[in-house]
Amino acid sequence: ESNGNVETSMMKMIPRIKFTKLFINGEFIDSTSGKTFETIDPRTEEVIANVSEGDKDDVDLAVTAARHAFDHGPWPRLPGCERRRIMLKFADLMDENVEELAALDTIDAANLYSLGKGMFIHGAAELIRYYAGAADKIHGETLKMSRDLHGYTLVEPIGVVGHIIPWNFPTQMFVMKVGPALAAGCTMVVKPAEQTPLSALYYAYLAKLAGVPDGVINVVTGYGPTVGASISSHMDIDMVSFTGSTETGHRIMQAAATSNLKGQICVAGTRTFVQEGIYDKFVARLLEELKTWVVGDPFDSNVNQGPQVDKKQYEKVLSYIEHGKREGATLLSGGKPLDTKGKGYYIEPTIFTDVTDDMIIAKDEIFGPVMSLMKFKSVEEVIKRANGTKYGLAAGIMTNDLNIANTVSRSLRAGAVWINCYFGFDNDLPIGGYKRSGFGKDMGMDALHKYLQHKSIAIPIYNSPW
Ligand code: ADP
Repeated sequence: ESNGNVETSMMKMIPRIKFTKLFINGEFIDSTSGKTFETIDPRTEEVIANVSEGDKDDVDLAVTAARHAFDHGPWPRLPGCERRRIMLKFADLMDENVEELAALDTIDAANLYSLGKGMFIHGAAELIRYYAGAADKIHGETLKMSRDLHGYTLVEPIGVVGHIIPWNFPTQMFVMKVGPALAAGCTMVVKPAEQTPLSALYYAYLAKLAGVPDGVINVVTGYGPTVGASISSHMDIDMVSFTGSTETGHRIMQAAATSNLKGQICVAGTRTFVQEGIYDKFVARLLEELKTWVVGDPFDSNVNQGPQVDKKQYEKVLSYIEHGKREGATLLSGGKPLDTKGKGYYIEPTIFTDVTDDMIIAKDEIFGPVMSLMKFKSVEEVIKRANGTKYGLAAGIMTNDLNIANTVSRSLRAGAVWINCYFGFDNDLPIGGYKRSGFGKDMGMDALHKYLQHKSIAIPIYNSPW
């Protein structure tokens, strides 16, 4: 049964907010303009904190600090084992502060507290350890080019990196970007999403405590068209790593291409195809499951689904639901704001059936509790339809037939395919989209290499008998 009770019982778990200012060159400072913006608790619609609002001038300051830390500072020059030692300490500090960090992502991003405390924060610390372990294993190749020329490659950090991060999982997004860049020896300017700036500031503080030198990680909080745009067009930033909407990705690529040619990444989402033979049974089971699905305060450990992250997202999801109704999809359940008696951006878990491929709810990325069920007959048909979208981040297949699993996973144009599971993430497995879901990967060793560049060196050998 859906539970709209979002009273204040969980309020005691909310931490005192310690960090609300920009983090530049190892210090928390006010923005140049002195402006701040409100970050809102999506459970109550109340202001959690006023956070410094950065702009172009602040990005300039952060880039100057990162540039100096890269060109003259110790971080890129440290032996890999030293970067490893500091990163391992950073990961330990994340584990030690798990409750406070999980709570920050709950009030700021509506991430479920029980998952944050039980899984996400420790998982994020593990990802930092994964890359820490790689920091001293970065090496090039020796190439025997000809009798009188010896060649080798040096693998070097790419330089100053800009990270532009979305709101959905602030902690994972932060470590996915910052972890490999740190291990590579890069320095960076991080822009968390305006909806969810709090945990990034806390991580920057913990990194400093662990011994990451000043200027290596800088965090500029603020909006996309100001802070984000200044990062993507900055001539002193060597690479931008972006996760977010395809539209923003286009804008960033344009800015990057017209400034100094950087590279970047982005991510998108889903539809559910059910084979006709099991369709009715599937729907019945789904409705059965839905009865135990609880919507409510994400601090409550019984809750499966919290609120949407902010008012804009809440309204966007509701408008997609209206599109679905108007275009003739059948509303099986949900379809409106949850009656919470109080406040908060809660939406009922919504299921549409009779969804056709050309409907907006099937084509766009909704980013909310909306599921579209679509019936299919043959495997060939479902492959074709599943591929008939401009996106291609991730897909899942449920089947007992190994051959179908192999055929479908090879045929889908998606960066990740999960067989008989969903959200099959692992530190070792690179994740990144095909088609308009972006290029480049996060996680895995591929992500580390994105932050490195290869230099070829050739040296003549005189009078060698070999
Ligand atoms: P989402 O759908 O995840 O909200 P967005 O693309 O809107 O996706 O946001 C992802 C990140 O990109 C956020 O940090 C946002 O502030 C930033 N962003 C938005 N617009 C721009 C822009 N024009 N240039 C650079 N970054 C931007």
